[in-house]
Order: sequence, then C-alpha cells, then structure tokens
Amino acid sequence: MMLLALRWVRTYIEHMAQAPVLDRLKILADAAKYDASCASSGTAKRNSRDGKGIGSTEGMGICHAYAPDGRCISLLKLLLTNHCIFDCHYCINRKSSNVVRARFTPQEVVDLTLSFYRRNYIEGLFLSSGIVKSSNHTMEQLIEVARILREEHDFRGYIHLKTIPEADPELMAQAGLWADRVSINVELPTDAGLSRLAPDKSAPQIEGAMGNLSHAIADAKDAQKHFRRAPRFAPAGQSTQMIVGADGASDAQIVGKASTLYDRFGLRRVYYSAFSPIPEASAVLPLKRPPLLREHRLYQSDWLMRFYGFAPAEVQQAAEPDGMLPLDIDPKLAWALKFRGRFPVDLNRAPREDLLRVPGLGTKAVSAILAARRHRTIRLDDVARLTVSIKKMRPFIVTVDWRPTLLTDRLDLRARLAVPAKQMELFA
Ligand code: SF4
Repeated sequence: MMLLALRWVRTYIEHMAQAPVLDRLKILADAAKYDASCASSGTAKRNSRDGKGIGSTEGMGICHAYAPDGRCISLLKLLLTNHCIFDCHYCINRKSSNVVRARFTPQEVVDLTLSFYRRNYIEGLFLSSGIVKSSNHTMEQLIEVARILREEHDFRGYIHLKTIPEADPELMAQAGLWADRVSINVELPTDAGLSRLAPDKSAPQIEGAMGNLSHAIADAKDAQKHFRRAPRFAPAGQSTQMIVGADGASDAQIVGKASTLYDRFGLRRVYYSAFSPIPEASAVLPLKRPPLLREHRLYQSDWLMRFYGFAPAEVQQAAEPDGMLPLDIDPKLAWALKFRGRFPVDLNRAPREDLLRVPGLGTKAVSAILAARRHRTIRLDDVARLTVSIKKMRPFIVTVDWRPTLLTDRLDLRARLAVPAKQMELFA
C-alpha cells in the first residue's frame, strides 16, 4: 500500500515537472468542461480604465459566449490538477480512473490567465481542482492563484473559485476575499445518490460549507452598508451544480432540492449538468446520458421559480406522474395545460402575476404589455410583435380582437402545441 502511494506521488511530481504547459493546458482545460457553473452575472463593477491595475468585470469584458452545448466559454476555465484522492463514480478524474494526469502550479495558472487576458481571449478565470494531497492543501493552492492575481497583478477581472467543502472554514473564508464568486458542488440531488456515487463526500459537510459561505456573504454585504471600506466577500455570491441523470432522482426531486438550496443558502444559481458517460465508467452508472433536453427543461423550471413567481410545488405539478418534466413541451406550458381553469388571461386587464403564467410570454413581453396598455388597448397583432410565436399563446389569452372560445379546452391541445419529434431529436 505504502509502495503504491509512493509511486503515485512520484508519477505526480514527475509528470508535472516534465510536460510542457500547453500539453497540460489541453488536459486540464478538457477536464474542466464537465463543470457547467461558470456564468459570471452579478459581480461588482471594477475596471482599469483609470490606468490602474489590469482587467475589468464590465463592458465587453463580461459578455459571455456559450458553446452549442450551453457551456460558458468566455472565461479561462481549467482545473489546477486532475489528480484526485477521491473516487466519485461519475467523475473522469476519480482516483481509480486511467486518465492522463497533469497539474499546474499556482504561478503557472496566473501566467496563463494574464497572457490569455492580454490577448483578449478571456475576461476572467474559472478555477476548479481535483483534490491532491488533502482538501486543505488543494484549497490553499486555489487561493494562492487568486491572491497572486489580485495582490501582485492588481487583476480586476472576474474570478470564480470552485471551493472544496471538506477544507477548513478559515480557508473558505479566504477564498471569498479574493474571488468574485465561490461555488461548491452539491453534486447529486439526493443524499442517497451522493453516498452511493461519491462515497468520500458527505451531504452535511457540503451543506455546512454552503451555509458558512452564505453567512459570510451576508455579513460582508451588511458591513459594506455601514463601512465603505469593509472587505468584499464573493460579491457575485455562490452557486452550485447538480448532476442530472447519474442517479434515479426525478425532475420533481431535483426541482425540490434546487428550491431548498436557493432558500437556505441564497444561491445565485443552481446549474444542472446532464451526466455524460465517461470512459471506463463504473458499473453503478447508467450507460446512456439523459437527453440534453432534460437539462434544458430543468433550466426552464428554474427560471419559472426565480423570475415567473411559480412556487416549487407548482413546477412539480407540471411533471408527469413519474415525476419527470415532459420533454415535448416546456414546463410552463405543461402547467397551463393542467390548470386550464386559470385561462384564458385577458391581456388588457390581468395583473402582472397572471400575465407571467401565460405560455410563451416572457418577462420582457409582460413588461411591454403592461406599459402599452396604459395608453391603448392590446390587440393580437401587438402580442405577436412581442413574441417569437403567437401559436402557443392563442389558447391562453384574450385580447380586444381575440378570444379562444373552445380552443383552451380542446382535448388535443397538447398534441397541437408539442415540439415535433424531429425537433426534439436535435437535443437528443
Ligand atoms: S472530488 Fe471532484 S475531482 Fe475528485 S473524483 Fe470527486 S468530483 Fe472528481
């Protein structure tokens, strides 16, 4: 056992010393692609327009590009190392995986970030890591990257640190002083799923660490109200990521978990990442990835709770009897079809909260309707100009020149509004 451990340490040191930076970048940027939680909304405004420092969280600096699979690509997104002493079944970097390993030193990540930034490739850094030696050691290395960037280079760009829940709370507190956003992956929607698929992790520990971060963020905000120079702590808040489809959790369970996390820890975002089968996968994992459309439907349900006034229980009501959200229609439409008694909604009279329930009507369109109806009566054409497709909306609205009569109650309404199977295949 001892011999094995020594060999592992030697391989680790040798590889990191020998491989050129570009080779390691290839490995560690690729290894980071499984992490979806990299959007950088909501951070504090900082820039270097006055000639001081380098970087910015504003303007062009913070417009994000997303890859076709929805992952953010405007940040330099990498792992400090893909070595790991944990053995999470769903993870390609787990200790029993045969993957090629690499590691950066904190200074190397700093150099890469600055040189990518100067070439205008990125606007910030998203840094995560496998756990090497110990949780505390790894956390110290992550913090060191952020410290050097901020303290030695006056870097004012965006930094998102993925923190390690098993590390000392003192280290987590330091991370928040340098980073704009901190995050801890909750990993799986249920505690049972976590103990089965990530045996080295503990749900109480993860949630305890999220709780500590949430208090520190709230305390710092409070202190800033009273003292202008009070230190900032993760001004862009904390987020988390849940893997979808690796365990048997239903969408209703995932929605319930996400809503608890938002309520308890004031999270900025919960990210959903469809589980991707990995090479030499453990036998406890499913063989097939869930459809990407499932991830998309979960994001839509998340938006219903955050921006459309839906209670978690209402989103769960949109699910099928097996707890899964339908794939052929979005969750708002699924809910409307189940609660047809709430429709049609009169666009000239209904309050904002009822307008937000109309399938196909987004928050901007609702605001535009509310503003327009102060001066004139809303007609169907007005709504058509505000939305992508009026077809989905017709059965659920009344305007001065339109009333759906029996359309809202038609038995085949769902079939008429569902996404055709061919279009669904695009997401498969
Ligand atoms: S701790 Fe993180 S990097 Fe290590 S095996 Fe688990 S998920 Fe992968």
